[in-house]
This record gives sequence, C-alpha cells and structure tokens, in this order.
Amino acid sequence: MSDTIKEMKKQLFYKKKSAYEAKTEAEIEAAYDFAKGYAKFIDSSKTEREAVASGIGILREHGFSEYRLGDIVKPGDKLYYNNRGKSLLAFVIGKEPLEHGIRISAAHVDSPRIDMKQHTVYENTGFGYLKTHYYGGIRKYQWATIPLALHGVVVKADGERVNVTIGEDEGDPVFCITDLLPHLSKDQSQRPLESAFTGEGLNVLIGSRPYATEDDPYDTSSPDDRVKLAILKYFNDKYGITESDLISAELTVVPAGKSRDIGLDRAMIGAYGHDDRVCAYPILMAVAELEAPEKTAMCIFADKEETGSNGNTGMQSRVLADIISELSRALGADEHIVRANSLCLSADVAAGYDPNYADVYEIKNSALCGCGVVLTKFTGSRGKGNTNDASAETVGVVRGIFDKAGVVWQTAELGKVDQGGGGTVAMYIANHNIDTIDLGVPVLSMHAPFEIISKVDLYEAYRAHVAFNK
Ligand code: MN
Ligand code: MN
Repeated sequence: MSDTIKEMKKQLFYKKKSAYEAKTEAEIEAAYDFAKGYAKFIDSSKTEREAVASGIGILREHGFSEYRLGDIVKPGDKLYYNNRGKSLLAFVIGKEPLEHGIRISAAHVDSPRIDMKQHTVYENTGFGYLKTHYYGGIRKYQWATIPLALHGVVVKADGERVNVTIGEDEGDPVFCITDLLPHLSKDQSQRPLESAFTGEGLNVLIGSRPYATEDDPYDTSSPDDRVKLAILKYFNDKYGITESDLISAELTVVPAGKSRDIGLDRAMIGAYGHDDRVCAYPILMAVAELEAPEKTAMCIFADKEETGSNGNTGMQSRVLADIISELSRALGADEHIVRANSLCLSADVAAGYDPNYADVYEIKNSALCGCGVVLTKFTGSRGKGNTNDASAETVGVVRGIFDKAGVVWQTAELGKVDQGGGGTVAMYIANHNIDTIDLGVPVLSMHAPFEIISKVDLYEAYRAHVAFNK
C-alpha cells in the first residue's frame, strides 16, 4: 500500500479507538480512582430510594441545599429537589440567562429486581416464603440459587416509615429462590428458557423454624402456620410491624453483597444495578462539582424507567416541566424559551458487545467495552419504534463538545435490527421540546443480578458530562 493511500485512509476513514490506546497511564489510573467512589455509591444504592438518599448525601457534601417549589433562586445557587424520596433533581444556577437553556443530564436509579406482593408471607410444608411480583425486565432463571437481600420501606397506618435492610451486613442472613436439582429437571429442561421459570414460582425462601415455647411446643400433626408466625414475630420484634403493615410497604429482594473488581487487571466492575447507576453517578458528580457555571446545569435521578417511566416519580411525570417552570418564574425567564434552548443527555447504559453472543450484535454499530462512553442516536425496536431519534444537528453539537474536550466516545445501537430493542427516558424529555440524545456506558449481562462494566468507560462518561456542563 502506498503512503498516499495510507494517508488518505487516515484522513477519510473513521476509526474507533480503545480508551487504553487514547489515554495515558495516569489517565487510566484516574479512571480506576474514580471507580472507587462509584463502588461506594452503588453498594449503598440498591433501590431508587437508597440511590436518592446517597445522591443527596453527596450533594450536601458539595454544598447543595434543599429546594422547594416556589423558592427564590439566584445564579450560583446549588440546589436539589427531593421528589418523594424516589426521584431527585439537582441543579446549579448558571451566570447566563436561563433562556440560554439548561444543560440537563438524566439517568434512572431503579433497576430490575423482585418486589414483594402486598400479601407476601406464607408457609408451605415447613418453609416460610415471600410471594413476589418481579419488577422490570428480568430473565427469571438468573435469580434462582443466588443470595438475596431484602430492602425497602414499611409505612405504618400512622404514617411512621420503617426502613428495612437485611442481608447486606457480614453477619446478616440472606434469602434465596430455589431451583430444581438436575436429577429431576427433565421436564423443566425441555421448556424454553423464557417459560422454564414462572413469575408465580419466584417465591423467596425466608425461614423454616417454627415458633414454639416450652409450654407450647411444635406439633407436626398440626403445624398451624408456626413458621409464618415466627417470621412475623421477627418482623414485629425488630421493626414493630404486623402483617397488615406489609400492605403499605415497598419491599424488594435484590442480589446480596457488594460490587467487585473483575479480572486480574481489575479493569472491570461486577455489580447489581449498573443499569443505570453507572450513569447516575457520573452525572451526579459532574453537577455536584460545579461552581458557578455559565449555563444552568441539572441532573436527574428518575424512578420507574424499568417499568415504563410512568407515575409521579417517573420521567413521564410533570415534575421536570414544573421545576423548569418554577425556575423560569423565579429568574424572570420564559419557560417555553428555556425548554426550547435546553439540551439533554439521557444517560442510560448501552448493550456492550459480548463476543460470547456475537450473533445478536452487528459489530460495526455495537458498543465495545473499553472504547469509551456511547452516544446513541436512536433506540427503539422494529423500525425504530418508540424512539427519540436525536436530530443530526443534536448529534453534531454533542460530538463537537466531546471532541473538543478529548472525551473517548463511540456511537452504537443496541444490537442487530429486529433482534429486539429497548428504550430510555430520552423521548419523555424530548417531548418537552428539549433536544435530547442518549449517552451511556456499555454493560455486559444487562439486567442480570451481576452486570459488568469497564472502569475506563465509566470515567469517560464522567468526563463527557463534565465537558457538557462547561
Ligand atoms: Mn437503563
Ligand atoms: Mn434497563
């Protein structure tokens, strides 16, 4: 090949770069450092409520204070709006007029998991169980035979709220969904993966010792729900609750335990709930560390993305529009102009290319782990159904910002056309007349109890949001 051809190719072809190729050793070290803060965040943020609480903790450390609708605000203010403890909006008021637009980053902090039904505790053949209704898109077989922890809140009839976390501390017990032994699984093994496990079959094993006293010993001939009684007595002793209180509860089981470094090189992190805390943490830090920016910057932790973004803590709610409207009123701006001039990065994970399952991906348009943060022009399924397809103009503006800041980024879609699909909160924000595009970190085993991401991609996501807020 002649030098001219080589030079022409270099000039005209696009080449995806690995972050390891693009970054210096010191920068990769910085990525590993940033990952330590992330690990702390994700370990204490297994539900949307916990993520909101962790987020507020970090914001307060950075000088943010609570904002209530109607408050007076001024440039330089660092504020957060706590939406019912389940979603969060943090913002720093910029020096420029609000009508120049807000830089918004939005991630979701709910993750697929297994929720308790309202009538949940029951006993069967000497075992105590919890009846469940799974939340979000899980592959049910992945949730059997792993240690599970119970998280959530119980609200008593008088309004008192009790936080529950069992299974995370070293000395805590954990819970489990059982599976068949291979010796007896002939029928189950022949069923398709999707139907081998049923929703009603995901009962969580929570105890087996019947309640008994010297005066009133256990009698196998008449078991009388003694195991269930022992479980409810435990809840009553520890939390002061009864079975009726479980009706006004949000209890969920999630994989027990902390995130772990993966690989001899510790280049990756395995954890429950990277989708979407691996985007929530960078957007939070990029806003938390801002001091008097030019443009007003906002980050959003949304709830309920995994079930369709509905409800007053989901991204389809009026909350974002109301806050923009309130800020506009307080700063003497026209909210319609503010929204029209705003720009949003919908921060959600991308499907990382997995060579073990190469046939579902189209590699030219796949997100490669280690190649930086992923810009996704459109999501959706079957002919881009239900997508916010960001305009070429929006892609142009955002790539310009990243290139100027030296962010390692790539562009990708989920997988092969017609193989499946997915969505994010992007379209709900765009519907407010806000230019919006998806940006996220590639994840392997998305929605599994243990998902995998690459530290360099996490760090490039953070750097992308820092550049975006500049
Ligand atoms: Mn997501
Ligand atoms: Mn998801």
